[in-house]
Amino acid sequence: MPKFATSPGTRDILAPDSARWRHFQQVFADVVEPAGYAHIIPPMFEDLGVFLRVGETTEIVTKEMYDFEDKGGRRIALRPEQTASVCRAFVEHRPVTPWKVWYGGPNFRYEKPQQGRYRQFDQVGIEALGPDDPQLDAEVIALAMQFYAQLGLRQVRLSINSLGDSGDRDRYATALRAHFSAHLDALSAESRATLERNPLRVLDSKRSEDAAVIAAAPKMADHLSADAATHFAHVQAALRSASIQFVVDDRLVRGLDYYRRTTFEFVSTALSAAHTAIGGGGRYDGLVADLGGPETPGIGFALGLDRTLLACDAEGVFAAPASRVDVFVVDVTGGAEATSICSALRAAGVGADRAYEGKSMKSQMKAADRSGARIAIIIGDDERTTNTAIIRTMDDGSQQSAQRDNLVASVRQALGR
Ligand code: AMP
Repeated sequence: MPKFATSPGTRDILAPDSARWRHFQQVFADVVEPAGYAHIIPPMFEDLGVFLRVGETTEIVTKEMYDFEDKGGRRIALRPEQTASVCRAFVEHRPVTPWKVWYGGPNFRYEKPQQGRYRQFDQVGIEALGPDDPQLDAEVIALAMQFYAQLGLRQVRLSINSLGDSGDRDRYATALRAHFSAHLDALSAESRATLERNPLRVLDSKRSEDAAVIAAAPKMADHLSADAATHFAHVQAALRSASIQFVVDDRLVRGLDYYRRTTFEFVSTALSAAHTAIGGGGRYDGLVADLGGPETPGIGFALGLDRTLLACDAEGVFAAPASRVDVFVVDVTGGAEATSICSALRAAGVGADRAYEGKSMKSQMKAADRSGARIAIIIGDDERTTNTAIIRTMDDGSQQSAQRDNLVASVRQALGR
């Protein structure tokens, strides 16, 4: 028989981590839904063309896409991110603006797997389409910060930048190209290749040999149009008045080509160097039009669940939720008592589990321990004859006897509910 295991870059998320994942999405929904963001669940695969709009010079599109031809001859891709899908949905459904939505779920990128970098990874995010208002940029950023705080994270650094409008960006790209071309010899081979495709991405290089040339490169701030500069100043003022700390990082360009004006990134200073980026986003004012819709500004962010949980581990916060099994029923009289007690408890909304196959007392007590239940109910021959049950508190081993007739009420009392 062949032995199967998960494909490279994918993982099974087992308990108790799986409960933590679900809770993560719930905490996110509890932060963004009250701010007017409604849940959208886009499909996991779409017409390849939707994602080509993300940027034909980004590696996400050129190298990392899971794309294939389906049995109907359509060119399909597993989504590498969800902003493009949300914009496609906007064009398809034409909702009234402002259209504010949130999403959560897996994306797929054919990357080199390593700690914090997977081929299937989860993100939560929001997108707000319609207004071009810098107050909205600040709201979007503030919600991400509120979410991180809700998780208990304290070591999150926010960097922001403006990439200007598309004209500004093109002029800046030309200036960068001229600068880097004049210093080709001092650039790494990788950055020389990147320069061919997209001079802005050279700024992303973390290679030490590129540092000096990058430090001397022209700055985006000097290429912003008056409108874009004013927008950026207003975003910063709004963040300051909301007491949100940030640094302006004029080297922040981010991986996707569609960004305009405001871009931002969240870094966990609790994580070690390689993968500290736990989320990011920005404005993508041209994307809806690129997808065949009306000219519609948009802004949003995506936060990586996998990496954010690594940051939570590093800070020792956001532990897995407690077991939902409140009671473990240990029945050494054959198992029929456990069946009826479990169904009575479950019907009353009390989490109840049990052992099977007439296991020994010792083995059932071990299972009770493993279950995370706070209470064990023990039924031996004596209890069955006298129509009673023993209620054992797992923490301290204290025991009391209870009447079977009002067992549910006694259990509730022991659980304090
Ligand atoms: P992006 O969609 O590239 O802007 O990424 C947003 C966030 O998603 C990043 O800051 C990471 O936290 C996370 N992320 C992106 N790619 C991966 C990946 N391959 N594995 C795990 N997390 C990722």
